[in-house]
Amino acid sequence: MKKDDCIFCKLANGEIPTNALYEDDIVKVIFDLGPATRGHVLVIPKEHFDNVFSMDEKTAAHVFVVASRVAKALYAELGCDGMNILQNNGEIAGQTVFHFHMHIIPRYKDDAVNIKWTAGKLDDDFAHNLIEKLRDKI
Ligand SMILES: [Zn+2]
Repeated sequence: MKKDDCIFCKLANGEIPTNALYEDDIVKVIFDLGPATRGHVLVIPKEHFDNVFSMDEKTAAHVFVVASRVAKALYAELGCDGMNILQNNGEIAGQTVFHFHMHIIPRYKDDAVNIKWTAGKLDDDFAHNLIEKLRDKI
């Protein structure tokens, strides 16, 4: 299902013309208009999902299959030094367009992109408690 006021629905379904790097029945891969680096693309499902929490498993699986293929092709073609594949859910996580999208960001030794955080320390009690709580939910 599409959402009328969603720009990514319009881009993914051709209502707004765009250069697609790849397209099939489920997803479209387009260039990010504000790229972090050369070759930064987005994998966008054609159906509207606000984020990963509302996405069905079939679409989620396909998104990553396509992301994997695109990443390998970009890596071979661009001569980049590495790649980030990331996906933000919710404003606090950095999501700015509320239609699920996965970023594929080629990385170069001299790029100025900073995707880092300060490492904390794992709380073993928290982890064991969470394992128990989620055992039958995943
Ligand atoms: Zn949408």
